[in-house]
Amino acid sequence: MAVRHPFSRRQFVGGVAATIGALGLRPETELFAQGQTAQFTGGEAEYDAFVKLASNENNYGPPPSVMKAMNDAWKYANRYGYPDGNIVQVIADHHGVKRENVLLTAGSGEGLDVMATTYLGPGKKVLGVSPSYASVFQQASNVKADSIQVPLTKEYRQNISAMIETTNRHAREIGFVYMCNPNNPTGAVVTAKEVKDLLDNIPKDMPVLIDEAYHHFVDDPAYGTAIPYVLEGRQVVVARTFSKIAALAAMRIGYSIAPAEMVREMNVYASNSVNVLAKWGAVASLKDKAAEADVKAKIVDMRNKTTKVLESWGYPVIPSQANFFMVSLGERQVQGVIEEFRKMGILVGRPFPPMLNHLRVSVGTPEDMEKFMTAFKKIFPQKAAAATRG
Ligand code: PLP
Repeated sequence: MAVRHPFSRRQFVGGVAATIGALGLRPETELFAQGQTAQFTGGEAEYDAFVKLASNENNYGPPPSVMKAMNDAWKYANRYGYPDGNIVQVIADHHGVKRENVLLTAGSGEGLDVMATTYLGPGKKVLGVSPSYASVFQQASNVKADSIQVPLTKEYRQNISAMIETTNRHAREIGFVYMCNPNNPTGAVVTAKEVKDLLDNIPKDMPVLIDEAYHHFVDDPAYGTAIPYVLEGRQVVVARTFSKIAALAAMRIGYSIAPAEMVREMNVYASNSVNVLAKWGAVASLKDKAAEADVKAKIVDMRNKTTKVLESWGYPVIPSQANFFMVSLGERQVQGVIEEFRKMGILVGRPFPPMLNHLRVSVGTPEDMEKFMTAFKKIFPQKAAAATRG
């Protein structure tokens, strides 16, 4: 059964506010705008000392080619107009679309907000799954709209038939459908066939936002980007970010690929405030395919190795295609576990109701993951090995 409700901050924050507060993170910003303006209010030394596995960041940092491009851009810091590396055209060429199909945003999170501002409003609803990346639900509430959140299946996958059924049943009130693929927090993908099923079985003019923030980490051959649907003229918007694979989270740059008409409609609400360093860094990162392949290989390898160790210690992991995974904590509630990790200097993901017996862990460097596993083994006793699920 889909749960229909106005997004409630109180209900969603629940008991996590205290923990987030203890991290020096402001709950309002960390929870709902993780990719946008999460603030760390502690000092630099304190922040640097933490092993950061909480926000699905790329702990390797930008590669040398991207650092050089950003450093070269400083000379324009005093300008309003400047050579911007031709970022919009570079993105368009990268995807084989036209410039008018690209909406450049300050992080993909701005694109999600803009989508909600453009296509929702009083009386409208966004349909998505729960748990998922909640910022669209939050923005719906900001513009006085609601959300309909369909629970995941028993296997923690997005329930496509329930999404189709619910969308059709509420078609007149739904402003757009949101799908995060791979999904955050589970890391599970929706296959290309399932995306097609969804698009083929809901009204043709229903806008669909597909959030591909973690696209670059996927190996599953059944997965595919939804960008070809934009070229087909479907009402599909695909959000991409430079925060994850390209390690530019603090630089705030992302984009949406959409039909030209939708880009025009959304652009009215976009800030158009991406900075020069971010633009030059993003151009360099799209060009440096070797660096991208290298960081993907390292992260996927570490994810798979860590999963194996956790499962042989007795704790099953939901199969993930992203740079994070969820481990089952058995009987234990995640809230207290987050606190135990923090005391050992490790920041791990927040609770994702209703999956309160699962912990989301971002994949860091081998050193980060070794520290994570050492702490995990101190907190959790060894059990009979869990069956490997992927
Ligand atoms: N979409 C998903 C699924 C995310 O997990 C995040 C951030 O973690 C974002 C979008 C926003 O990322 P950004 O605004 O940094 O591009």
